[in-house]
Amino acid sequence: MTVSEQSPIRTAPETITIRNPVTSAVIGEVPIQSADEVRRAVERARAAFPAWAARSVQERATLLRKWGDLIMAEQDKMIATIRSETGKIQLHAWEEVLVIDNTVDYYYYRAAGILRPQTRRSLIPMKFKARMYYKPYGVCGFITPWNYPLLNALQDLIPALIAGNTVILKPSEITPFTALYAVELMHRVGIPKDVAQVVTGAGQTGSALVDLVDDLSFTGSTATGRKIAMRCAERLIPYSLELGGKDALIVLKDANIDLAATGTLAGSLENSGQVCVATERVYVEAAVYDQYIERIRHYVAQMVQGSGDGMWDIHIGSMTNEREVQRAEQQLADAVSKGAKVLYGGKRRPDLGPLFFEPTLLVDVDHSMEVMREETFGPLIPIMKVKDEAEAIRLANDNRYGLSGAIYTRDLKRGEQLATQMESGDVHVNCTSWIFGIPTLPMGGVKESGVGRRNGPEGLLRFVKPQSIVIDNELMNKPKLTLVDEFGLRIALLIRSARRYIPFLRL
Ligand code: ADP
Repeated sequence: MTVSEQSPIRTAPETITIRNPVTSAVIGEVPIQSADEVRRAVERARAAFPAWAARSVQERATLLRKWGDLIMAEQDKMIATIRSETGKIQLHAWEEVLVIDNTVDYYYYRAAGILRPQTRRSLIPMKFKARMYYKPYGVCGFITPWNYPLLNALQDLIPALIAGNTVILKPSEITPFTALYAVELMHRVGIPKDVAQVVTGAGQTGSALVDLVDDLSFTGSTATGRKIAMRCAERLIPYSLELGGKDALIVLKDANIDLAATGTLAGSLENSGQVCVATERVYVEAAVYDQYIERIRHYVAQMVQGSGDGMWDIHIGSMTNEREVQRAEQQLADAVSKGAKVLYGGKRRPDLGPLFFEPTLLVDVDHSMEVMREETFGPLIPIMKVKDEAEAIRLANDNRYGLSGAIYTRDLKRGEQLATQMESGDVHVNCTSWIFGIPTLPMGGVKESGVGRRNGPEGLLRFVKPQSIVIDNELMNKPKLTLVDEFGLRIALLIRSARRYIPFLRL
């Protein structure tokens, strides 16, 4: 190799080119930020932290409320940005805006109450006061995926900021512009620039962030989440992981079959199946299997796929990522080679764009097939006939993931009871994926679907560390050479007996 053939010394920063998945047109470029640049961003965030943490919860929540309002006001531009990076339909992009607004609203009203300092009962109530404060961690890092570039990137930032942390977001290298725009809107409502920052780049930029922040939230694949968890454990920093899923939907024989069939399509095909809480396998009781198959075929044939505008005219858009199209194709081929039958769809739609894939119904599937075991990020709906509800629950739980799930039945009590037998972070009865629209409920996975919870009081408390303060009012204190003296021990034993009869003394 001659000197001229070697790669040139780079002076300009390296960049990533972002393309529209529908048209392949270049949307723009973002820099791949180096470990040094990430370090400087963390230093700025650390310097901004004391002043931000010193503001009241309600003051911070009010700024976030203004931000939510501004996103609503600029929703057309936000939706266009999301769609240009992901290829999703207008409705699915709009849902992201709505969920963010709803989350802001929930914490705006609830955060101050959840984070208020508390007085707890103490061992000797007349003497000791037991107080507890929630304090922010400092600089919180967020590493996020491309499937919901607004929702998945920004939803966790809301409670983190309201709790008093400064934040640094490393969005997916496939969809950085939505995050950049959303954080620019934060600055516009008065959230200081160093309090909310974005760093751009791929895995290495993310990894540099994990090395420096005080708390890390990751949403993405289980493989990357595992690597991040190992580094966080090494650094002894708290972390939260929202990872993959293989969510099961069970149709019991007493279900409304039309609603179960359309509910399956909605749960599986939202965002072309590129959803962590997507329905990815269906178990139908034998008694209603034929009827369910007839209905789902009937409804899937009515779905319109495309890239045009219009909130209600198009039901399924493009996929975002060629790698995920290939994964779906490979799972499909594996299933067919093992005896599965494609009832509907099964192919790309190059006439619509390079990453469009048809909604696909698969039957005669079993758990030897990848499509029933491994996460799918595409519009595949494998449907399996089961003997009864016990078999359905057993098969639903026969998976290393446990994110979401659904049961269709007219017996709501039975549905709720069966839901508690499913090994997943949430379960829906007669609907799917609504967990995203209910910020009061914690959301997250069990098994390999994750660690930690988003939303609800749990999703706010994860961004604070409790600090306990014990105050001795020195009542009857005398100098003593041990922690407890004879008098103190007698009082403690007295209180132990009194606790049985006096509720006030119970700890
Ligand atoms: P995908 O490849 O489908 O985007 P990943 O889980 O790999 O799924 O990516 C999710 C996010 O994690 C992205 O923002 C990506 O840049 C980031 N990422 C990938 N690898 C690493 C890593 N080793 N350390 C930190 N972040 C990473």
